[in-house]
Amino acid sequence: MMNEMMRLDQEYIAGTYKRFPLEIVRGKGSLVEDADGNNYIDMGSGIAVTSFGIADDAWQAAVTAQLGTLQHMSNLYYTDPCIRLARLLCEKTGMRKVFFSNSGAEANECAIKAARKYAAQKHGADCYTIVTLNNSFHGRTLTTLAATGQAHYHELFCPLTPGFAHVNAEQPGELEALAETTKIAAVMIECVQGEGGVVPLSAEYAQAVQRFTQAHDIPLIVDEVQTGNGRSGALYAYMRYGLSPDIVSTAKGLAGGLPLGATLLGEKLQNVFSYGDHGSTFGGNPVCCAGAYSILSRLTDDFLAEVRAKGDFLQSAFRGAPGIEDVSGLGLMLGLKTARPAADVVADCMAEGVLCLTAKDKVRLLPALNIPQDLLAAAADVIRRVAAKA
Ligand SMILES: *Cc1c(COP(=O)(O)O)cnc(C)c1O
Repeated sequence: MMNEMMRLDQEYIAGTYKRFPLEIVRGKGSLVEDADGNNYIDMGSGIAVTSFGIADDAWQAAVTAQLGTLQHMSNLYYTDPCIRLARLLCEKTGMRKVFFSNSGAEANECAIKAARKYAAQKHGADCYTIVTLNNSFHGRTLTTLAATGQAHYHELFCPLTPGFAHVNAEQPGELEALAETTKIAAVMIECVQGEGGVVPLSAEYAQAVQRFTQAHDIPLIVDEVQTGNGRSGALYAYMRYGLSPDIVSTAKGLAGGLPLGATLLGEKLQNVFSYGDHGSTFGGNPVCCAGAYSILSRLTDDFLAEVRAKGDFLQSAFRGAPGIEDVSGLGLMLGLKTARPAADVVADCMAEGVLCLTAKDKVRLLPALNIPQDLLAAAADVIRRVAAKA
């Protein structure tokens, strides 16, 4: 069975994914089942996507009701799910306007276009350089690859979109020095670098970046594609850092497992776009927006406190444990620096019924935000045992 699946995948699927030899057929909550009927505790949530787990009842009811009513309509007409969701996003964040797309990369593309237009109008057409951090990840399109500060993603795909520069995190002097030679249009950061190895920015550096953008009257863009929608233990991670971004991009967990990206514009940029400046055929799709409304409306303060408590539980389960050298992250977004290679730890966890991810040289954990405590504790036990193996 598995061999046939692997053969067909190799024959028909473009070779971009190195998959585990495992076929997942269904799931419920934080448990997923393979083709042989084995169950696994899902500590990856489809890479921070299934915010309330697989086939969550309330989410499923909201999505299927919308699916049977209106599955798509062009953006030439008004539709209720998209407007309701935009209003909820703005009310919960204080941001003013939303542009909906279908993925994280597209949410960032929109953020970049918004910042470029604002800078061109405010500071002149030669003010276009977007600064991001080394070790960042902002997506796979040619423009968001240019934004991504990791050279190995760039190789063989050049030339990328021009007008990007990268500086090292935690070195505010590098931003100041760059501003001496380059007109900077915006700075874009992840509060916790996800793909970069679950590396949180220090509060001091995040504040320094914000002061820099305010002093230069340029937008601060926070990429909350992975950290957003409750993952960090706050609705958005920038809230834990006390930041007031001008643009926030998000996707992954927003619609609980359906493709939806959102770019939130704050007061300064709320009117930057005019008719025709940007668009998306599927953006704001009613089914995806109905799913997102179900997720977002349940990310209450009480719920987010539980996310933080579960994150704290994991941090203390792993801190100082044999074979675990470091624990990083925020909320339910954690990276473990293990003595054994992360890939070996993940493979052994899988054999013991726990699905984990990697990020760079770390084991990365992104469980569903509502994972029951008993499953979380069981997964932590397995990970600790596997990490301690010689
Ligand atoms: C995953 C991710 C992206 C890209 O999202 P896609 O939906 O895969 O396009 C962008 N930024 C960050 C921080 C991410 O984690």
